[in-house]
Amino acid sequence: PTNVNNLADEYLRLAYHGLRAKDKSFNAEMVTHFDDALPVVNIVPQDVGRVLLNMFNNAFYAVQQKQKSGLAGYKPTIEVSTQKVDKWLEIRVKDNGTGIPDEIKDKILQPFFTTKPTGEGTGLGLSLSYDIIVKAHNGQIDIDSKEGEYTVFIVKLPL
Ligand code: ADP
Ligand code: MG
Repeated sequence: PTNVNNLADEYLRLAYHGLRAKDKSFNAEMVTHFDDALPVVNIVPQDVGRVLLNMFNNAFYAVQQKQKSGLAGYKPTIEVSTQKVDKWLEIRVKDNGTGIPDEIKDKILQPFFTTKPTGEGTGLGLSLSYDIIVKAHNGQIDIDSKEGEYTVFIVKLPL
């Protein structure tokens, strides 16, 4: 039985500090809404933690790339929330970064698919996430994104 609020909070800090260690000038606003009444859920915390870490890293990368393009007034923001919806525990990760172009939306879950330069991405994160969440935990992953605007990943775990 795992408290997903604590898990998400820990991995969000880990991702942010990892990025800041490589790029001291990087800053992003992090907005969190962790539901206090969230029930504990039976999961393998290290595995779901890896999924969250990859999603946070992807989100930070996306806002960092958009920031590098030099948009005036751009404020990199990552929003993370947890909630119980029907029979699911949901973890929602939203960034206002580069977004995902429509042409690649159906490819991002494939192993080794990456748009990152060599050394910065393996393209394994989301395919592994699918295995962990959907196959091993009977959960779901929902994705919504608008190119140039935002990306939302929702991890759903059965209660
Ligand atoms: P990697 O991070 O190693 O590239 P992933 O499987 O984690 O591999 O992601 C695959 C691809 O999906 C990324 O290269 C990127 O093109 C796209 N992607 C994933 N998350 C985001 C995001 N938050 N914003 C924009 N693109 C994303
Ligand atoms: Mg990744």
